[in-house]
Formats: sequence, structure tokens, C-alpha cells
Amino acid sequence: MDSSLQIEVTPTPSPVSPERLAEILANPGFGLHFTDHMFVVEWTPEKGWYDARVTPYAPLSIDPATAVLHYAQEIFEGMKAYRHEDGSVWTFRPEENAARMVRSARRLALPELPVGDFVASVDALVRADERWVPEPAGEKSLYVRPFMFASEVFLGVRPSQHVTYLVIASPAGAYFSKGPQPVSIWLSEDYTRAGRGGMGAAKTGGNYASSLVAQQEAIAEGCDQVAFLDAAEGKYVEELGGMNLYFVQDDGTIVTPATSGTILEGITRSSIIELCGKLGHRVVERPFTVDEWRDGVASGSITEVFACGTAAVVTPVGTLKWRGGSVGEGDQTGPVTQQVRTALVDIQYGRAEDTFGWMHRV
Ligand code: PMP
Repeated sequence: MDSSLQIEVTPTPSPVSPERLAEILANPGFGLHFTDHMFVVEWTPEKGWYDARVTPYAPLSIDPATAVLHYAQEIFEGMKAYRHEDGSVWTFRPEENAARMVRSARRLALPELPVGDFVASVDALVRADERWVPEPAGEKSLYVRPFMFASEVFLGVRPSQHVTYLVIASPAGAYFSKGPQPVSIWLSEDYTRAGRGGMGAAKTGGNYASSLVAQQEAIAEGCDQVAFLDAAEGKYVEELGGMNLYFVQDDGTIVTPATSGTILEGITRSSIIELCGKLGHRVVERPFTVDEWRDGVASGSITEVFACGTAAVVTPVGTLKWRGGSVGEGDQTGPVTQQVRTALVDIQYGRAEDTFGWMHRV
């Protein structure tokens, strides 16, 4: 994949000792520790993308009038680098993250970073900080966070004329230390995440800001995650705060809510559609009502529910709870959930043949 960026790399001796790094990588948690470097590139309408560099990881100095702090013109991506048993390091479908960032950029009136430049930026950072990519045991990885924001110092509602794109990275432990555990879901009936014509399909901070109060409600109700319904009718299941949903039916069909501009088009979600085809399952993308979920679990016509996303890969859903009731008490991971999860994780960690050509060597 081509990139026209001239990336200047300023390596820095790591401030983290080998002993401390070993400690961090043994138990990295999530989003707590950051690598030695960051990738930065700037944009203006006159210059386009310029001054691409890998520099020591450091705080940014932000003027109080920087546009993003006021108008939230910001987008981001989330992906992982995986170490294989032979020591090589790989990312999973990085050009899909790049393409989604282009779509997010269009929606937020931000400049498009070409797919090749996005992939080159992630490669450059992961190469510089290769020692931060954990060993594969226990499903550890290096979480990579590319993001772009309105960095013009200007108060006024219009697209920023100065934009900054960065990539940072953080080692990530297994989402579940004891293997996948079913999560409980709170059905948000008071708050919605996205409406027609809104930003639901874009990966932008505002969508997460608006989900927090619903997530707080979920925690107060004793649930792990929140599920959002469509804004127009409050009838159709959209997605969780940070994951897409799948429903396994007793007729062998697997249903996932259709993307219609209000749901984030998860890369795990679309990979599972392809993977299921190969595993011999039929996947249908269609509007799916919350009544189908409730009644299906109660009657047994829905045999498994799972959520999917980069962070937790594939996660079984145990209980669905709403104001006045709940269904599903399962504490088991169903066979289809387990099969899909294993098939995907094995490709990501190089334990199964990558017949789709999804892995990208860094
Ligand atoms: N929906 C939302 C709202 C998310 O934040 C994410 C995580 N990026 C997903 C779905 C899953 O997307 P992906 O599989 O690309 O991680």
C-alpha cells in the first residue's frame, strides 16, 4: 500500500526500564500505559498533510481556544497489533480502519487521510515501539489509537483550518482473565445514541460522550453494558455503547442489526459475517426488534446472543435487563459464540491460516 508521507523518526531512549516494561506487559490492563513514541502529522488547506513524524511520547500543548475543546470536531479509530509465536507483529485489516476513518472524516468535515498514509502511520509507530507488543499468551496485544482533531486556535463554528492527526499505542491485556464471561446488558429506553442523519456511523468522541449517562444507568442497574434502540421508534436494536450485536436463532440463522447510518460499522462485525459464511452459518443483516430479542430468549428460539468489537473480540451476552423485567440468566458461552470467537482469534494470532488475507505484517 502506497504512502507519500515522508516520515521523520526521532527515536528516544525509553524512559521505561526493561524490568518495568516486563512488569507492565505481564499485567497491562487496558488504556493505562503508553508506549515510548507517538506519530504526528499536521494539515492545513494550503499545505495538505505535512510534517509527518514519530517523536517521543509527550503531552500536547493546547491553547484554550483550540476548536476541538469547544466544538468536538474529532474522530478516532481503535485497532490492535498482535505478536505471533515466531515473534513477528501484525495488524488486522488496517485498511478497513483507514477506510472507516475516511468516512468519519467526511461526516465531521475533517480532511481525509489517505488509506496508505493511515496504514504507514500505524506501521511506523508500531515498528518504533515494537518492544511494547506483548507476547501472544493470554490474548495480549498492543492497542493502537489513531485520532484526528480540530487544532486551529479559533472560536467559531466552522470546519477547522488546522488539523492534527496522531497515533498512540497502549499494551492491552486479555479482556477476560478467565476466558470469556457473559456480560449483562441494560436496555436504554430514555437515551438514544444516534438519529437519522446524525453521526452514529462515525467514530467520533461525541457519540461516546452521549452514551456515558446511559452507561452510568446500566452500572447503577447492576449491568455491564448498555444497549441502544433506534431513535425514531424505540423499537429496533442498534448496538451496545462500544460493540455490535449478533443473535443466533434455533433455525441456524444468525441475525445482526442492519447498518443504516446510525450504527458503527464494526470491523469485527463485518469480519464475522465473512467468517460465518466459511463456517457454514447463514448471517442475515436486517432490522431486529427488541421484542424479538426478549421473546426469542424467553421462548428459546434465540439460543445465543453475543457482542463483538476490537477490544473484547466476541463476548457472550448473558442477561438483558430493562425497567420492569429481564431475560436470560446464562453463565455459559454458547457453541456458536465459542466457535466464531476461536476462529477469529486464531487468525489474529497466526494460529490458523489467514485464508481471507486479513493480516498485515508490520
Ligand atoms: N460499536 C461501537 C459504538 C464501537 O465503539 C465499536 C468499537 N470500535 C464497535 C461497535 C465495534 O467496532 P470494531 O469491531 O471495529 O472494533
